[in-house]
Amino acid sequence: MIIGSHVHFGSKQLLGSLEEALSYGANAFMLYTGAPQNTFRSKIDSKYTLEALKLMQENDIKMENVICHAPYIINLANKEKIEAWNFSISFLKAEIKRCEELGIKYIVLHPGSSVKHPTEEGLNNIIEALNYIINDDDKCMIILETMAGKGSECGKTIEEIKTILEGVKSSNIGVCLDTCHLNDAGYDMSNFDLFLDEFTKSIPLEKIKCIHVNDSKNVRGSHKDRHANIGYGTIGFESLIKIVNNEKLKNVPKILETPYISKNDSEKELVYPPYKLEIEMLKKGLFNPNLIDDIRESYK
Ligand code: FE
Ligand code: FE
Ligand code: ZN
Repeated sequence: MIIGSHVHFGSKQLLGSLEEALSYGANAFMLYTGAPQNTFRSKIDSKYTLEALKLMQENDIKMENVICHAPYIINLANKEKIEAWNFSISFLKAEIKRCEELGIKYIVLHPGSSVKHPTEEGLNNIIEALNYIINDDDKCMIILETMAGKGSECGKTIEEIKTILEGVKSSNIGVCLDTCHLNDAGYDMSNFDLFLDEFTKSIPLEKIKCIHVNDSKNVRGSHKDRHANIGYGTIGFESLIKIVNNEKLKNVPKILETPYISKNDSEKELVYPPYKLEIEMLKKGLFNPNLIDDIRESYK
């Protein structure tokens, strides 16, 4: 099973991310090359990259299983403020260059929100932007994340993702499925093979390059996008375990983006990463009803 979680980038950059992933027992990971909410980016230091590559080799972690996530502030769907749209384009181009410097092959992108405009207009803006950004010979491929459909988010249906893929001239583009987002968008995650059948009627299976494995705090079709810990949401452990073990997507990295755990039930601040025990649980295929307490205990 190729599985990991999102991790920090931090001062040691790729090396720091890798060390965090290894501490969770992961063989895949996803990082932001800086804070997801802002555009401040440190210069890539090749010293850390080279050290990370060596450590990856020692631990048999492949570059295909290291994923970058573009910052949320990029919005290619809304052209109302043309400076903001242009900025999103140039920033994403720069992120791709950073990924190439790090040797990362996939960057996850939220297609964007159309804000006051119809979805169709948003989709056209995304396509136009991606046609400026993507080159056939880019070594890092943009993969579009399926969205929950919160607010005016584009990419909430298979059809919307298909429209973007068809509009982009280059074939150097893929897809990232997010189980929480799919559930919240209205797709049934309880029979994943059935979902894949529907998906592959529109988009080839090979386009799927990453899966975000999250439970959801809300019911199917809620369009909310609030992630829950594995087995602690409305999708449930039985459905998620089948997804991570799906034979057709065996070689696709599975990335957890589940919420951190608070120190105790009355505390609000989420401080403990759940990933080590969640990964363990998914590998074992056995639900742990004491997961939250076990995570707290593991940090004492
Ligand atoms: Fe995302
Ligand atoms: Fe996600
Ligand atoms: Zn989400």
